[in-house]
Amino acid sequence: HWPTRTNGLPADETSEVLLVTAAVAAGAGLACAVLVRWIARQRTAQASLHLQIQELSGAIRRLEGRNTDLQATADALVSERALLEQRTDALSKTLQHIDQGILMVDRSGTVAVYNKQVVTMLDLPEELLASQPPFSAVLEHQWRSAEFARTDRTLQDFVRAGGIMDRPQHYERERPNGMAIEVHSQPLEGGGIVRTFTDITQRKLAQMAIERAALFDELTGLPNRLALLRALETWRNAPEGTISLLSISLDRFRLLNNARGHETGDQVLVEAARRLSSERAGDDVVSRVGGDEFAVFHVQRGDDSEPEELPKRLLKRLEEPYVVDGVTLSITASIGVVWADAEASPATLLRQADVALSRAKDAGGDQVAYYTPSMTVAREERFQLEQSLREALGANTFTLAYQPIIAVESGEIVGYESLLRWVDPVRGNISPATFIPIAEATGLIVPLGRKALVWACFEAASWPNERSVAVNLSPAQFERGKIVETVREVLARSGLAPQRLELEITEGMLLEQTGLVLETMTALREIGVGLTIDDFGAGHAGLSYLRRFPFKKMKIDGSFVRSLGKDSASDAIVEAMLLLGKRLNMRVVAEGVETEEQLEQLRRMRCPYVQGYLTGRPMAPELARGL
Ligand code: C2E
Ligand code: CA
Ligand code: CA
Repeated sequence: HWPTRTNGLPADETSEVLLVTAAVAAGAGLACAVLVRWIARQRTAQASLHLQIQELSGAIRRLEGRNTDLQATADALVSERALLEQRTDALSKTLQHIDQGILMVDRSGTVAVYNKQVVTMLDLPEELLASQPPFSAVLEHQWRSAEFARTDRTLQDFVRAGGIMDRPQHYERERPNGMAIEVHSQPLEGGGIVRTFTDITQRKLAQMAIERAALFDELTGLPNRLALLRALETWRNAPEGTISLLSISLDRFRLLNNARGHETGDQVLVEAARRLSSERAGDDVVSRVGGDEFAVFHVQRGDDSEPEELPKRLLKRLEEPYVVDGVTLSITASIGVVWADAEASPATLLRQADVALSRAKDAGGDQVAYYTPSMTVAREERFQLEQSLREALGANTFTLAYQPIIAVESGEIVGYESLLRWVDPVRGNISPATFIPIAEATGLIVPLGRKALVWACFEAASWPNERSVAVNLSPAQFERGKIVETVREVLARSGLAPQRLELEITEGMLLEQTGLVLETMTALREIGVGLTIDDFGAGHAGLSYLRRFPFKKMKIDGSFVRSLGKDSASDAIVEAMLLLGKRLNMRVVAEGVETEEQLEQLRRMRCPYVQGYLTGRPMAPELARGL
């Protein structure tokens, strides 16, 4: 507050002072207000600066924090990258070491990953793959090198259409070099594909081997029975033309097999298969349906040659000599043929062809027989006969007839051959030529032959003289019947001197020249019984058999005797046989002597013994005993 100076100064002055004072006061007041305001403003500015500083330092702190985070992230990234590299390394090592070939195509269609297996497996140029080529370039290369040529058209079209990238695929194909591969192609999520290739050649081969085994014969490589039946069935489903089915078999193959060994037998079969195959025409199926049995299924078309021509040709071909290990073998064959329509079932057809085949065989082999329904009837009869034979065996309705064997010089009976006779109540007299083969085929010959042996021995033991008795033996008796024991036992029981018993065996048995046969024969000789080779010259036995086996007697087959004086070759053969017998110290009997001329000629040839209708028919035991 300013002091008032009115008391000390004149009025004018006072008022002037007052004025000045007032002015000064007013000015000061104004200044003061300005100052105050300035100060206030300064304060606000300061406060905001402070705030800013605070914010800034916060920001700095945050930045610092983030920096550490970033550092950590960077560190993590580095170690992750290391891990990734490790993994990639492991992956690429794996890729190089797995069996499969791998090819990865990325989204842009570039081959991004491959392993060396894919290079070798697909024969791709390494440089091409290493250059990260477009996948299309790889396909292009494969296309040019005819990679897909062996595979079916759909794959070719597929590759050509370029659809390979779009969808998963799984297929197998054969490479030009014969390798079988399995291809898997899997599109990737973000585009691109992974293709894997597996070598499945071994698996395929094994699979093929299994399939082959089921449908093909191992030895000859021909389709087997099952394959043949399937082919017949296929034809029946769409029959076209007519068919003939040929059932083919080598004659007396079992004997050959046993005589020469299975290896030789196998070689003959392989050769026979080869010959049959070489005559194959069109869609003929040549198959091996069993041991020595082949079948040919032939479809006859309109323009075909003579239907009878094929079996004849095959027969001729099969009968050409076989050379095995330097040895020439002549083998005949038999063929049964059935002409068929689609009516009959494959199994029936095969059976009918077989029936015709057995007819050809029964008639001596080396021929063709055509199936007729009457053959089935004959078959049926044979079956009936077999039944009757069984019954007869049980009922003992067999008898033995005795045919004298004569010494040519003296005209005396030296012995008898016992021959089975069977009189069936319905059919009457049945020839052994009919029932012996059936008995042999069914094994009935073993008990039947044993009976014949017993009867003959007891009969001969009752004779008032020392004549010999001959008994025929079948191969099966050697094989299955304990023949040595049986003979020893029968001789003991009947009291017949072993020297009076002669056992006749055919050449066929010798062909089955297993150690067993020789062993058995030696044992029989040791007992003291005589061994005779029957039907000599009619079969397959070579002369060497005479040396190898201990025979006492040889019987010249009746067929040679019958042609005596008719052709000079037969005469020569008979003379040679007689000489052979003499040299080998064997007694020779000429069989089937029916005429005086034959006997006269044999006498001139110095044949020691004869047997035949001329000198005595097979007769009842009482009659023989009385002579
Ligand atoms: P095989 O051993 O060659 O017997 C001789 C056959 O010739 C007998 O026929 C006999 O009757 C016949 N025969 C004898 N002389 C003459 C003749 O002058 N002219 C003609 N055309 N034939 C004559 P069979 O009795 O019919 O016997 C046939 C075959 O049956 C025998 O031939 C033999 O292989 C077999 N067989 C007979 N009995 C038995 C036996 O008990 N056991 C065995 N395993 N087979 C037997
Ligand atoms: Ca005989
Ligand atoms: Ca004979």
